[in-house]
Amino acid sequence: MKSIRCIFFLLLFILLGCKNQTVKKFDSFSIEKRNSKPIVSFTFDDGITSDIANFKFEEWNEMILSHLENENLKAIFFVTGRNKLNKKGQFLLQSWNDKGHKIANHSFSHPYFNSDKNNSHLFELELLRTDTIISKFSNNIKFFRFPYLKEGQNKAKVDSLRTILSKHNYQNGYVTIDASDWYVNQRLIERIGEIGAKNADIEKYKAFYIKHIMERANYYEALSYAINDRHINHTLLLHHNLTSALFLGDLIQEFKAKGWEVVHADVAYKDPIFKTIPDANFAGESLIYSMVKQLTKYDHSLRYPAEDSRYEKEKMNKLGL
Ligand SMILES: [Zn+2]
Repeated sequence: MKSIRCIFFLLLFILLGCKNQTVKKFDSFSIEKRNSKPIVSFTFDDGITSDIANFKFEEWNEMILSHLENENLKAIFFVTGRNKLNKKGQFLLQSWNDKGHKIANHSFSHPYFNSDKNNSHLFELELLRTDTIISKFSNNIKFFRFPYLKEGQNKAKVDSLRTILSKHNYQNGYVTIDASDWYVNQRLIERIGEIGAKNADIEKYKAFYIKHIMERANYYEALSYAINDRHINHTLLLHHNLTSALFLGDLIQEFKAKGWEVVHADVAYKDPIFKTIPDANFAGESLIYSMVKQLTKYDHSLRYPAEDSRYEKEKMNKLGL
């Protein structure tokens, strides 16, 4: 009788084990199913508080927030701390927090951490100074984005910065789609400065900007699909600038028109891809870039720098932008 009972329990354990396996399989299947098309989310870096061309700071900042609100979309704002201590800086953080966007850390003074001058001690100070500023806002999250996407010039440095991040419960606010919106922004502001906003054919800048961002998004999506065999949740890097104020609404529409799903940035970071820590020897640039670099067979698909004004300059010159 005792042995029959033992066999019964043994069978029950096996059955329960199978059931757990089925649940696991179903979960991973449903993730695959949910990601049946490319997915993008929006993140904004830096945060400036000055007027741009003929746009007052409060006005162009509000334009970005309105684009996001019209699409019912939440972003993550990775901010530098240095210019957020005064009235305007506090207003900026409050305006994003009030609209339900997340506030994350982008260092205090935007150092280049691939330089010997900027050591791990400075890194910790930079991280904590901005942490103190943003932790007063209810929507702050413990994500850190490296300035210039530079995580250290060698393995030892990368390892030590990673240790400091985890010591303070931070995770890397990885970018998966990197681009040069900042350069289009710079050229547009220069043109407006030269001939005024009315004469500066802003529509042509918009067309170039949207084409450029979509091209980079498709590039990183194709690379990512090749190595992950699925559509990951992407995090697009944009900046808090005039091109975002003027063109973000049209950019979001373009992603949707081209079949992309657009999701909140904090939701995007729930993708397990963001738990991937690339080998320290290949850290830096976008997450997809470093993952691909690690697999040397894809080397031919990469350029260095990954993104830079040098790739867009000629194209913009030719178009008279
Ligand atoms: Zn930055």
